[in-house]
Amino acid sequence: MSENRLDNLRIVLVNTSHPGNIGGAARAIKNMGLSRLYLVAPKEFPAEKAVWRAAGALDVLDNAVVVETLDEAIAGCGLVVGTSARERRIPWPLVNPRECGEKAIAEAGTHEVAILFGREDRGLTNEELHRCHYHVHIPANEEYSSLNLAAAVQVIAYELRMAWLTHEQGKAPTFDDWDVPPAKVEAMERYYEHLQETLEKLGFLEPDNPRQTMTRLRRLYGRIRMDEMELSILRGVLTATQNYVYHTGKKLEELGESGEDER
Ligand code: SAH
Repeated sequence: MSENRLDNLRIVLVNTSHPGNIGGAARAIKNMGLSRLYLVAPKEFPAEKAVWRAAGALDVLDNAVVVETLDEAIAGCGLVVGTSARERRIPWPLVNPRECGEKAIAEAGTHEVAILFGREDRGLTNEELHRCHYHVHIPANEEYSSLNLAAAVQVIAYELRMAWLTHEQGKAPTFDDWDVPPAKVEAMERYYEHLQETLEKLGFLEPDNPRQTMTRLRRLYGRIRMDEMELSILRGVLTATQNYVYHTGKKLEELGESGEDER
């Protein structure tokens, strides 16, 4: 973790098609004092066009971390925010760019924060958006609301900078007063796997059709923002539940309609 909160922020571009946009994003990032660019499976990178659009921000391009999967790009993060040009089917906690800047800077003192940007043609997938605690929408012209990717990075990076300047003046709230650090994304992923497995063993979830329930549970836990201790307690509850099912050999439906056992 860096002393400078801007250095604890990752700008993550997912599956970018046009390298010019990667260069444009690098420039926007450096202009606003940020430094860390993550590229998930870019179509074309390194590329001349990226260098050209980056202008004086070649250091950001050179230091860009290129990874194959979103998991790698957000590993270690305690807060993940996904940008979205339109409303999705299952509503998600939504913030505007200003709130996004404030939250990110408030939290970047204790843990890393990632902000995700999608593909030029179709944005982020639902699955990618469901990995996020919040979605952020730039409230553009409703009839023409999709910004160029690098322009969207510029808007969000500007708000991050404004929030950071306020914080530097000692005028911003922080997230530092909690006793235990928040659970990081990979620990949460392991929890969701454990939860799904347990719910299947209980007979609560059909293995063939877990999708919506798991998505809604993700959204629920994303709103709670558990810390590491709370997460480890819930992991213990899941293990105890699995042990109970294993030893009694009974699923919920076998215990009668009320779902209670005979005790
Ligand atoms: N047609 C796509 C738009 C992709 S624009 C869609 O409907 O999703 C490429 C990327 O720029 C988006 O994934 C998002 O990261 C960012 N972006 C563009 N316009 C935005 C807006 N109004 N609010 C937030 N992010 C936006």
